[in-house]
Amino acid sequence: MQSSSEKTSWFPIMLRLDEARVLVIGGGNIAANKVRLLVPTGARIELLSPTLCPELQRLADDGVLTHVPGLVSEDDVRARLPGCRLVYIATNDTTLNRSLAALCQQQNVPVCAVDDPGNSSFITPALSTRGAVQVAVSTGGAAPVLARRLRAKIEEILPAGLHLLADFMQNARLPLRARLPDPSDRRQVWERFLDGSGGNLAMSGQTEAASRELDNLLDGHTRQGEVWLVGAGPGDPNLLTLAALRLMQDADTVLYDNLIGPDILNYVRRDAELIFVGKQRNRHTLPQEGINAELVRRAKAGERVLRLKGGDPFIFGRGGEEIETLTEAGVPFRIIPGISAANGCAAYAGIPLTHRDCAQACLFITGHAKADGTLDLAWETIALRSQTVVIYMGLTMLPQLSAQLMEHGLPADWPAALVERGTTPQQRVITGTLATLPEQAVAENVTSPALIIIGEVVQHRVSPTLPEA
Ligand code: SAH
Repeated sequence: MQSSSEKTSWFPIMLRLDEARVLVIGGGNIAANKVRLLVPTGARIELLSPTLCPELQRLADDGVLTHVPGLVSEDDVRARLPGCRLVYIATNDTTLNRSLAALCQQQNVPVCAVDDPGNSSFITPALSTRGAVQVAVSTGGAAPVLARRLRAKIEEILPAGLHLLADFMQNARLPLRARLPDPSDRRQVWERFLDGSGGNLAMSGQTEAASRELDNLLDGHTRQGEVWLVGAGPGDPNLLTLAALRLMQDADTVLYDNLIGPDILNYVRRDAELIFVGKQRNRHTLPQEGINAELVRRAKAGERVLRLKGGDPFIFGRGGEEIETLTEAGVPFRIIPGISAANGCAAYAGIPLTHRDCAQACLFITGHAKADGTLDLAWETIALRSQTVVIYMGLTMLPQLSAQLMEHGLPADWPAALVERGTTPQQRVITGTLATLPEQAVAENVTSPALIIIGEVVQHRVSPTLPEA
């Protein structure tokens, strides 16, 4: 049975192999690579091959594996398949490999034909092991070299004493469960332990001190919630900060709005509760006061609440109002900045925000109309030639904005650009002038979110290579 590896979506699991029979067919270095992975699992390895490389010979001599010598035949293999948990096939005869793999598949025994995902029912990931901690990286057989590169990167960041920490946590599991029956309480204690000094103590082998730290946390455990006000950047997940990513992995609940797309939400912990509190012009899903109250209510109930905002929370993000409410309610909070739309859109559109030759300042303004539909802005300070003006939420009022800027002294042919869905795969950049941009926006059917950049910097536009997804 052949299946195309391109169409296969592999399912990762960790398999118990102790005492299980595993067949390895082939006696060269490639087989040895797999045997090396199998030995620590305690599997009973039967190795079929007329010859053995020195490493496998040594393992056979030491009784670590059972060598079945002689030419490998289909009949041999068929006879050995019943009761076999896994089969690795790594002879240097690809035709033989393929027919043996087909045989295993017929018998429903999981088989890996090395370097041939199309004829395998499982594949082996690149693996980093630190005691009980294992990190497996797979590209679904598409690019093993890439998987090994990623593994090398992961190895660099895995702390040396990770296995000691895993042992410590394993040993403390049962006693902890007895003292704290609620799983979410236990998770909070472990997270505090890892955030505090406990993790490092355990990793450096100071088990007693680590136990004391854990006891202290247990004694003082009260469900104290928190709010994290986090900027998620303008759309491309590559622009998340490490702090944002970490809190996205730790949160119990995530309140997000319409600037946060699925690409970003993908990075949130799988079992966190996701709550959409998006605001759209004319359609407020949950009014700001409602959001503020919800943040307080959930934090007081002990949740770690992530308030995820597009761009930066303190730039046209009403972050200021949210933390005022939190302060009044005595809820602890953290603030993590994000890349604001101006920075992200400018970079991905290739438009510098300042430039020695033409823009000595850069102004971020809102083009959001007041309730009565008018714009109340200090036009004299905005309509200056020596600066760049970035307008957030300005799409609807673009005709009035450009008319006012011309009325206050900027020429009709003053450069201006629109960046729609900046930094995302749907990004569009439209350049023109103050006079033409409103019509262009209509003609090109530009929709929100879009950012307006006005100033001579638009003429310095370049085409950068964008980061890969
Ligand atoms: N706190 C956000 C801004 C929120 S106001 C920040 O720092 O970026 C919402 C406005 O931001 C939108 O109307 C739009 O003008 C701008 N914006 C946000 N993300 C954008 C994007 N990916 N592309 C273009 N404009 C964006």
